[in-house]
Amino acid sequence: MNSLITKILSLRCLEHLIVDEDFKIVELSTRVHHLSEIPDHLTIEQDVRLGFPELFGMEEIFEAIRQGEQNNFDLKGIVRYPEDSSPIYIDICITQNIEDACSSNRLMILVEDVTERMVLEQSFVQGANEANLLLRTLTASKQYIDQIVTSMADALLVTTLSGQIKRMNPAAQALLEYNEVELRGEPISTIIRGVDSWKSETGEKEVETDCQTKSGKIIPVAFSCSIVQTEVEHFQGYVYILRDMTERKQAELAKQEFLAMISHEVRTPITSITGMANLLLDTDLTDIQQDFVQIIDTSGNALLRIVNDFLDFSKIEAGKLELEEQPFNLQNCVYQAFDIVASKAKEKGLKLTFVDPPVSTIVLGDITRLCQVLVNLLSNAIKFTHTGSVEVSVTIPKSIDRNNEIQFAVKDTGIGIPRDTEGCQGHRLDRLFKAFTQVNASITRQYGGTGLGLAICKQLCDLMGGRIWVESEPNVGSIFYFTITASVIREGVGKETIDVTKDTAIDARIAEQHPLKILLVEDHLINQKMIQLMLQGMGYEANVASNGLEALLALRHQPYDVVLMDVQMPEMDGLTASEHICQEWTLDTRPRIIALTASAMWGERDRCFASGMDDYLTKPIRVQELVQVLKKCQPIITIEEGRRKKEEVYIWGLEPQIKTGDLFHGRGIKPPQGNG
Ligand code: ADP
Repeated sequence: MNSLITKILSLRCLEHLIVDEDFKIVELSTRVHHLSEIPDHLTIEQDVRLGFPELFGMEEIFEAIRQGEQNNFDLKGIVRYPEDSSPIYIDICITQNIEDACSSNRLMILVEDVTERMVLEQSFVQGANEANLLLRTLTASKQYIDQIVTSMADALLVTTLSGQIKRMNPAAQALLEYNEVELRGEPISTIIRGVDSWKSETGEKEVETDCQTKSGKIIPVAFSCSIVQTEVEHFQGYVYILRDMTERKQAELAKQEFLAMISHEVRTPITSITGMANLLLDTDLTDIQQDFVQIIDTSGNALLRIVNDFLDFSKIEAGKLELEEQPFNLQNCVYQAFDIVASKAKEKGLKLTFVDPPVSTIVLGDITRLCQVLVNLLSNAIKFTHTGSVEVSVTIPKSIDRNNEIQFAVKDTGIGIPRDTEGCQGHRLDRLFKAFTQVNASITRQYGGTGLGLAICKQLCDLMGGRIWVESEPNVGSIFYFTITASVIREGVGKETIDVTKDTAIDARIAEQHPLKILLVEDHLINQKMIQLMLQGMGYEANVASNGLEALLALRHQPYDVVLMDVQMPEMDGLTASEHICQEWTLDTRPRIIALTASAMWGERDRCFASGMDDYLTKPIRVQELVQVLKKCQPIITIEEGRRKKEEVYIWGLEPQIKTGDLFHGRGIKPPQGNG
């Protein structure tokens, strides 16, 4: 073979052999031996099939190529030589002799070492198989995730890091009434209200808000958001899960309404029972009758406490209790709690003291709720103490900033609380703050109670950013500690211990020192009597109207300083009446309106203030509370008018009930005649 062809073949790493029609080798390249299992047979004149046994049985193919019926034929072979070496893969090509293709009977056999290519090919195949497997796994896992997302009952939206909507599941499409294409690329804030401020302020937790649907419907939702962080930017962003709260809200509303109804329906008759019992106690009764009435009074009050506790507990449980943030005097808050329990302490001969009251310390918080915790703890302390004292102390941190932990302690010298009998110290004491827990059955039998008081205290302390705990020694006494987190606006220093049990009686000269003309608007006869009685105890004589409409007419006839306004009344309720009063008179000329409501439900207080009322009392009205709100009211009438009205005082003192009865005779309301 000419040297050029030999060179080209060797450049392409092709070894060659030329054979005659008897398969005898007539020419061979020098390195072809490396590609044969029996290299010794590869010599001139030898049968090529001995060196390459793969060629046995190929005789017809050789002949066909020789006859020009086909150009070439490829076959593969493996060479294992020496035996323990790794195999060499070869490609064998039988073809016409390139040099003398037409005339010669000789054929050329090209042999190529394809081991590298084969290994490469095999690893490609293996790689492809692995990739295939991976793809199938990925596809299955995508299907798996897709099916989870699709079958989710909650709406799911995926956004980019900058908040553009990328994906949403069918639940989201159903909730929002949009399909995915319509919302793709839109900012999430167009759907979820307040989402931006939420993310920066509160971190990743569930929050309640509203979302707006395509048709403009506002739906209450609870949503959570979490960040998705992967190495690929395309797969980074946020996942929002929205839960439709409509049904839950409706159920909550129904529960609220039910509780409000129960609150009103149950509290009102109880109030009547205790009110009438109180009135009866002041009449001439035999000893045995006194005992009976006393039992009615005590039981009525106990029942009322239970109803109130249940209402409070369920209200806080539902997360519906919103705390007020108003500046108030810390010392006054404690005194307000004392006012409520002082008579009981005095009755039991217990000393009720305030150790080092923080004079004129003003903090920002919810005075009512703080007072409620104090009243609960003080009531317990008084209830479980037979002799000695109950004292309150307050610790305010030295350095004052926005979030101060203010600590209160209510200490008694009572029966104490036994430690856990199994030696698990403190366990039993902790349990007391769980709902419906009492120390033991015999204590419950002796002292009564629902076991809700301390649970409510704990919930309230939690809400006020604090905690509650107790230290107690049986037969020595207990100290209930609790903290709240509040901003201290102004500091004051406590110096002396005040004994508030020394003087708890209501001063009958309050009206003299603080004269006010009062209109009581109340439809319930017994409540009318009871409140009038309380007012009389302070020296006030109030006029009475039995609904909002009558109240308006009475106010149009002459000015009053204070209107004690029941909320639920026939004809016109207290809220509507207050709105009318605020529209008709200016702030200087209108009376202060104090809401009287039997409903302790959330929202009631807000509704009262929204209608223009100035203060709020929950039935049963306590004398101390009434005194407190009345003291906040100022006469609105001018001095001259006052002088004129003073002359009429005795008239107001005369049977006010009869006077208003005359005034609003039947349904046809007519203005009072002359001086009545
Ligand atoms: P209750 O309405 O039954 O009083 P609480 O939750 O207020 O419910 O109190 C739970 C129990 O804790 C009480 O029944 C009583 O056994 C115990 N307890 C609470 N305060 C005191 C106290 N100052 N001294 C002794 N025991 C107390």
